Amino acid sequence: MTHVEHVAARAGRTVAWPAWVHDDVLTAYTKNGILKPWEHQANAATMAHDGLHVVLATGTGSGKSLGYQLPALSRLMSDDRATALYLSPTKALAADQLRAVAGLDLDGVRPATYDGDTPRAEREWIRQHSRFVLTNPDMLHHAILPGHTRWTTFLRRLAYVVVDECHAYRGVFGSHVAHVLRRLRRAAARYGASPTFVLASATSGDPADAASRLTGLQVNAVVDDASPRGAVTFALWEPPLDASLSPPVRTSALSETADLLASAILDDTRTLAFVRSRKAAELIATMARGRLNAAVPGLGRRVAAYRGGYLREDRRALEQALLSGDLLGLASTNALELGVDLVGLDAVLMCGYPGTRASMWQQAGRAGRAGGDALVVLIARDDPLDMYVVHHPSALFGRPVEATVLDPSNPYVLGPQLCSAAAEAALTFDDLAMFGPAAAGAAEALAASGALRKRPTGYYWTQRGTPDVDLRGTGGPPVEVVEAATGKLLGTVDRASAHAMLHPGAVHLHQGFSFIVDELDLDDGVALVHAADPPYSTHPRDITDISVVAVRSYVDAGPIGLFLGDVDVTNQVVSFQRRSIRTGEVIDTTPLDLPARDLRTVAVWFTISSRELSRAGVAPGDVPGALHAAEHAAIGLLPLIATCDRWDIGGLSTAGHPDTEAPTVFVYDGQAGGAGFAERAYGTAAAWLAATRDAISACGCEAGCPSCIQSPKCGNNNSPLDKPGAVSVLSAVLRRLP
Ligand SMILES: [Zn+2]
Ligand SMILES: [Zn+2]
Repeated sequence: MTHVEHVAARAGRTVAWPAWVHDDVLTAYTKNGILKPWEHQANAATMAHDGLHVVLATGTGSGKSLGYQLPALSRLMSDDRATALYLSPTKALAADQLRAVAGLDLDGVRPATYDGDTPRAEREWIRQHSRFVLTNPDMLHHAILPGHTRWTTFLRRLAYVVVDECHAYRGVFGSHVAHVLRRLRRAAARYGASPTFVLASATSGDPADAASRLTGLQVNAVVDDASPRGAVTFALWEPPLDASLSPPVRTSALSETADLLASAILDDTRTLAFVRSRKAAELIATMARGRLNAAVPGLGRRVAAYRGGYLREDRRALEQALLSGDLLGLASTNALELGVDLVGLDAVLMCGYPGTRASMWQQAGRAGRAGGDALVVLIARDDPLDMYVVHHPSALFGRPVEATVLDPSNPYVLGPQLCSAAAEAALTFDDLAMFGPAAAGAAEALAASGALRKRPTGYYWTQRGTPDVDLRGTGGPPVEVVEAATGKLLGTVDRASAHAMLHPGAVHLHQGFSFIVDELDLDDGVALVHAADPPYSTHPRDITDISVVAVRSYVDAGPIGLFLGDVDVTNQVVSFQRRSIRTGEVIDTTPLDLPARDLRTVAVWFTISSRELSRAGVAPGDVPGALHAAEHAAIGLLPLIATCDRWDIGGLSTAGHPDTEAPTVFVYDGQAGGAGFAERAYGTAAAWLAATRDAISACGCEAGCPSCIQSPKCGNNNSPLDKPGAVSVLSAVLRRLP
């Protein structure tokens, strides 16, 4: 155990209902058992009532919905023409909200969901009569905005736009949604409305900035959570290295989690263990069962595996068994994160860091019966980010969760979105300002390429139909994942990730179920898969070439240079490894025959002069290994400062690059045009590289391991890698960097 953090219990702070709340709304809430609002709810609601755009960013279960329901519903009740639009990233959440608002039974509000499942026959009625419409950004993009003339009445009266779970809008998807919201503002303005935006977010770093980027408006943040919670004891756990083996091998996180689960059950502690895949959940349950039966015959039946995809009745039965105490332990995929209501737990085990502090707290929030005290244990996997966080508790505790990163100026997002906007209504020169400083140049380029037609009054979409724009990618339509035996469409993966995630032989996880990819057809955009439960996971490996196109910004620190710029990347996924889920050991490596992918994207890179390297004690022969090790660890640690994972980003290191003419380490966004991650890394380079250096030097291994400098996706067999060299390079960079 590397650390124990005690998170104190917090008493709730209620306040009186704001005076402006409509009587009927107040009565409805009181009838539903809400006697007084928490302070943060009232603060956000009052700001929104006053017409200020506001984001409410507080913890799970802190009642964020009241923050937007109060102002929106009060307005709807006091002005019988006003309307409100509610947006959520998932249909399930919209359905929950519909139930909540309908349950208040307010006259004349007529809440209704409007999504792909809404029958045609009901759509006209909703457009004309519903005053609280619940939908999602995809529907707004594909149906509502292109058909805005049918929504004239609704848009003219639009008083509030609610953007729920707005932290979900990150990366390229978030950048697209940012423009969809600008198009919504433009459409509303066309009919004379300028709605107030109310956003709800998980706790996140700088929510006001993220919300302002998302909406293009000045947004105020309310972050002081006044809801009550029990005390939490939070332990960090590092599986030991088995020194009897050479080289020493770390005990797998899975086996440690199973041990802890068994111990907890022996102690009569109701415990939930989170893992990544259904296979892993079943392995943990099986291992824990064996250990329990060995200790107390028969006790093993009180632990089970749980996953998404179970029938509703099966899930209810498991939940009931846990509630009654028949079941004491459950191993689950994070399907539970998606809103299944599970109460009555004392402890949560996390097999591996969930990747962001936001999801970590969300999972931890499952523990604590009826607001009682709770135990949470995070068990590190053999991975640099996991090892870093268990040795640096300050990276997890007492600091805000990650900032939500998005970049609306991505040209691969901006161009298509301007076409969509022009197809809805001619894009005037004044309109362009709303879409950001890059919009004027982008519109000009679209006119030059013939996509838009320029006239004295603005830019026009003159083609038949609407532009085909996918909100979730930049590289063409997404690849469809289809189960070969049944022809069932399981889901889609964006083009940029298809090579790495859907190569032949890849294990593809879908709602906790595992599938193996049989065939990837890039021309037709289809991957055929079959259901399977392999005892291994797959890890693609790639090789990369980079050339610098333009430097956007740089820091000149003498022998050190730090740059942000546009680059051309050629990336090829060349092989994949199979690794045992139980032990993490590599089983084999299989070559792949996939085409190279060219992308223009955004990178952050640093250079260090050869003389500075030798001053730092790195011998010329060790330079490639030192830079390569620093690159791997830097990619592994980037999720610490941006809401990405290591598969969203790539890297390259070289002892001499033709464009920089110096030893260089590049880290780039894996999506065409960039997703904002490299930009974030550039903006916080000193903190990012310091964490990288500390992660390497704190690792107990001798010459590098998966916990520090080895990368599962390296195309060079993790060779050469120089652990002390990487620490020297990063220290030299940090000494100079402001
Ligand atoms: Zn190590
Ligand atoms: Zn590598």
